[in-house]
Amino acid sequence: MFIKENADKRAWIHQRIRRSEIDKYLINGKSFLDETEIQKALNAGADPDPQYIRAILDKSLMIENLSLTETAALLHVTDLSLISEMRETALKIKKKVYDNRVVTFAPLYLGNFCVNNCLYCGFKEDNCDARRKVLNDRDIRDEIRTLAGKVGHKRLIVVYGEHPRNDIDYIIESIRTIYDVKVKVRKGEGNIRRVNVNAPPFAIADLEKLRDVGIGTYQVFQETYHKQSYARVHPANTIKGDYLWRLYAMHRAFEAGIDDVGLGVLFGLYDWRFEIMALVKHSLELERVFGIGPHTVSFPRLEPALNVEMKDFKQYRVSDEDFKRIILVLRLAIPHTGMIITARETADMRKQSLSLGVTQMDASTKIGVGAYQENITDQDARRQQFLLGDPRTLDQLIREFCEQGMITSFCTAGYRCGRTGKCIMELLRKGEEGKFCKLNAILTFQEWLDDFGSEETQAIARPVLEKEISEVREKYPKMYPKFRQYYERIRNGERDLYI
Ligand code: SAM
Ligand code: SF4
Repeated sequence: MFIKENADKRAWIHQRIRRSEIDKYLINGKSFLDETEIQKALNAGADPDPQYIRAILDKSLMIENLSLTETAALLHVTDLSLISEMRETALKIKKKVYDNRVVTFAPLYLGNFCVNNCLYCGFKEDNCDARRKVLNDRDIRDEIRTLAGKVGHKRLIVVYGEHPRNDIDYIIESIRTIYDVKVKVRKGEGNIRRVNVNAPPFAIADLEKLRDVGIGTYQVFQETYHKQSYARVHPANTIKGDYLWRLYAMHRAFEAGIDDVGLGVLFGLYDWRFEIMALVKHSLELERVFGIGPHTVSFPRLEPALNVEMKDFKQYRVSDEDFKRIILVLRLAIPHTGMIITARETADMRKQSLSLGVTQMDASTKIGVGAYQENITDQDARRQQFLLGDPRTLDQLIREFCEQGMITSFCTAGYRCGRTGKCIMELLRKGEEGKFCKLNAILTFQEWLDDFGSEETQAIARPVLEKEISEVREKYPKMYPKFRQYYERIRNGERDLYI
């Protein structure tokens, strides 16, 4: 039995990588990621002239992507007053593209069986102490009843290891189940309306299945773009050991018709400056080939995990100061892109990151497989992928946003009414996305407050919402009557209305 299972697993691993679905994208056998080009740009950017930096900031403010040379120049700024100009510009960009909205979500770990052996990850195959689990239909429904019925999340990022037990057919089925769960709540009905996916790279045929089930963003993080460092932490005899299969994951996704993708780097595996440059290059490449850049970027920092030797990762550890520079430069270099900071970071760092350009955060986060069901033990929780820095609930986080004059958007209209891909990019660039987002943010936030908000949060949110509504009246007088009608319907218990 065990021998057969092992043989099946080996056969499954063997057919994962389609060489032809890498080779077709290479130019003269080479990838778009040229380490020499990046290094050259980094060297050329030293000691930038302040006037040059200001011209770059003007370009960012026009919501135009920066080149590698321009990005490198920003990385080299040391003058404190120039850095504060960079921060001011980042905030202006964020305001222009995303106004005062923050998006929240929860991660949901569905299966942590994995055939890979990434040195830094608690799910690696060699970690015999990991509590392995794949959620079945009933488990998934239980998790969603908590997330959508008690906490009030509308968006999830679902996370999977790479294994035949949680392969593409399992992934599709699990997403269907998630969308299917509806829970009666205070005034209306709680349900998950957008499932973003963090999963391994797939072949085009599998990606087409993923497209058809109706997902939000498909995320694959390159972890490190530096080939030698990549090889150091991803053993060559594993699927993940194939650098190019991962690098072209998003090319295949676009080709399969998934036009909403998320890139990321796991910071701490190599020099963070190189990684930013490579991330920007990846983004520019997607835009060059498919006309659309990534919808989001993520920048997790390496965290301690069960049976991971952290001393092996000391060399490239990213300090808090450098981490803030990473966020700042990314906001300026790819100005229309959504930026995600997760609960791996502390509450204080997450608060600071908002003024540097972050647009999305998770809350009420649990990252054990099956951890949202209340009977999980502390010991089980310690066996999860890595440890969390910010355990606050969604209600607490939303209250903090309100205190800073920010509104939490639960809008999931985008992918359901075709505002994705090129369409959303254009709207974001022109600053017109706001027209829809502002209205839908108010509607969905009010909905959440009525169904889930604590009295304290409702009280703090009231003046923030009133201010938003009066801005809508002034800025979009033509749309106001329809908006107002929707708003009243929401207050009377109707749900999932969007403009
Ligand atoms: N198996 C899929 C993959 O590797 O792409 C998706 C799941 S994996 C758990 C999701 C992400 O978790 C990885 O891309 C990696 O960046 C991040 N991760 C893994 N170990 C981590 C650690 N110790 N600290 C912080 N992030 C980690
Ligand atoms: Fe598996 Fe992903 Fe963890 Fe690597 S990072 S061991 S592929 S779950």
